[in-house]
Amino acid sequence: MRTTHQGREIEIIAPKNAYAACAFTINGQGPREGERFTGPLGASAADVLADLTRQIDELDAKGPEGITGTPGWTFMLRPGSWEVCTAPGLNRHIKPTHAPCNETACRREAAKEAQKKAFAAEGHPAAGPLSQQLQRAGFEKADSRGRDTEGFRVLRGDLGEGRKNPRRGVRVVWYAKGCLMPLDGKPGRLQEIADFLTGKDRYAVHYSGGCRIEVLSKTHGVPSPK
Ligand SMILES: [Zn+2]
Repeated sequence: MRTTHQGREIEIIAPKNAYAACAFTINGQGPREGERFTGPLGASAADVLADLTRQIDELDAKGPEGITGTPGWTFMLRPGSWEVCTAPGLNRHIKPTHAPCNETACRREAAKEAQKKAFAAEGHPAAGPLSQQLQRAGFEKADSRGRDTEGFRVLRGDLGEGRKNPRRGVRVVWYAKGCLMPLDGKPGRLQEIADFLTGKDRYAVHYSGGCRIEVLSKTHGVPSPK
């Protein structure tokens, strides 16, 4: 018997006697290339068909959520409803066509990407460009070897959330001559830098003395218009 159910081609070969098993394929596939699946012993072609259509309906009821697994095991799925997921770092697996992958690792990665985009949309300054901007404005950058020189350095992350969200805003710190770390008592030219950045009117600049300036997006913490 050959029939189609919800886009799946089903072929069932009835057993030769009442005690044998049906052989069947779905979408022309069996457990391996050129092989057919075997139904339960004693089940008729009608029994097997009823069971397969029930399984297909259950699968379809799950929608895109039901589309998981490996490219070699897709016989139950509607042709065209799945594609190979191109996300790196996992074994080959499938995802719903034109829809997010259901694998946990891929979901986690997608959430991370979304968060990155959300941060970018917040418009925080990036460390590299801000550092160059300050150098162009005539502020000296601290030598990465420290000690012998003095100057600013731009670090990723704001004071409050820096550890949790290193992509959110930057800190400008000052290294005084002979010091291996920024000291509140030696703020160097930070007040000048804070005034310069405030004058740019592009970022929210938080400085109240000491060895750190916090520079965030102007709209950070301001609810976006609905
Ligand atoms: Zn995936």
